Amino acid sequence: MRPFSYQRATDAAVAVQALGAASVENDPLTQATAQPLAGGTTLIDLMKLDVMRPSTVVDINPLAQDWSAVELGGDGLKLGALAKMSDVAANPEIQRSYPVIANSLKLAASAQLRNMATLGGNVMQRTRCSYFRDVSYENCNKRNPGAGCAAMDGVNRMHAVLGTSDQCIATYPGDFAQALIALDATVEITGRSGTRTMPFAELHKAPGNSPQIETTLRSGELISAFAIPGRWPRSVYLKARDRQSYEFALSSAAIALDVQDGTIRDARIALGGVATVPWRAREAEALLKGQKFDDGLATRVAEASFQDAKGRGHNSFKIALGKRVVAHALQQAAMMEI
Ligand SMILES: Cc1cc2nc3c(=O)[nH]c(=O)nc-3n(C[C@H](O)[C@H](O)[C@H](O)COP(=O)(O)OP(=O)(O)OC[C@H]3O[C@@H](n4cnc5c(N)ncnc54)[C@H](O)[C@@H]3O)c2cc1C
Ligand code: SF4
Repeated sequence: MRPFSYQRATDAAVAVQALGAASVENDPLTQATAQPLAGGTTLIDLMKLDVMRPSTVVDINPLAQDWSAVELGGDGLKLGALAKMSDVAANPEIQRSYPVIANSLKLAASAQLRNMATLGGNVMQRTRCSYFRDVSYENCNKRNPGAGCAAMDGVNRMHAVLGTSDQCIATYPGDFAQALIALDATVEITGRSGTRTMPFAELHKAPGNSPQIETTLRSGELISAFAIPGRWPRSVYLKARDRQSYEFALSSAAIALDVQDGTIRDARIALGGVATVPWRAREAEALLKGQKFDDGLATRVAEASFQDAKGRGHNSFKIALGKRVVAHALQQAAMMEI
């Protein structure tokens, strides 16, 4: 591990000042010389692996008093970025009104990790592509822009089939982000000039020609909260993985339905484990609206969810698996007793 300096932020202004002062404009994830430290369950791993090399680590945990609230109001839910995954997953109100959120968190990582890890750190986690995480491989466009991609024709069983480019096929690994994108969440961002809010769907960037740029966060900015409009009691998060615990998704689906008198008024579908970014399947959603649910409809929607998918060999099985996950998740959501 390389030497770095440690700074403990006493408040948000100090944190963004410290981060901004040491960071390179518009490329905070890959070129930043300062990184925020929340639970540390990903950042410290990547520093030990020499993948991330911050010269300064800014500990934002002292902000938890202001940034870890869970507020459920008439118009929706607000979650502080420093709330722990385990606390949010165990919240009975969230389990009742947003089961997709509670389960996306409960099915992630392990109990010990969830006790440490924060919501903000979770959405900012980086890909588990083994070539990215092993610096002995030079050819990783995400780590070394222009160096090529070892996964393209290499071992790519865990890689993405949606949102890929000829530069990078790394999967976005998190679970919670699928729940957020399905429910039209917004993200509150705190920077040197105050706070701004944007749709969560605009936070992550597909790899395109610059896989090293992963988010739209600007230099020195921090995620301070997430807001979810409305309530979604008829929602599920279904995750298929190699083992039932402590494992990333091979394929997952976040589904939310609004059903009135047997007719689907609104439908949301987001896919995980199969795409380079948290993935909203809007064309598939459109097939559900105004319909009565049956198994044939679930199959058509599952097909539509993966109509643009492209496998690269080892990962091609994810297309068939993903369709089954979507169809099952839809059935579960449709059959929920609300
Ligand atoms: C073995 C293992 C299995 C796992 N399995 C899963 C899984 O199945 N599903 C899943 O979703 N996750 C999984 N994870 C990932 C885990 O959930 C993340 O490590 C955790 O959520 C990160 O949160 P943290 O608070 O520890 O982040 P940190 O490690 O502190 O930070 C992570 C990154 O986010 C940045 N950051 C942190 N907070 C903020 C903020 N507020 N604003 C802007 N940037 C910020 C940091 O600088 C860093 O770059 C697994 C991790 C491990 C080690
Ligand atoms: S898939 Fe992306 S992260 Fe993995 S080796 Fe290729 S460029 Fe690097």
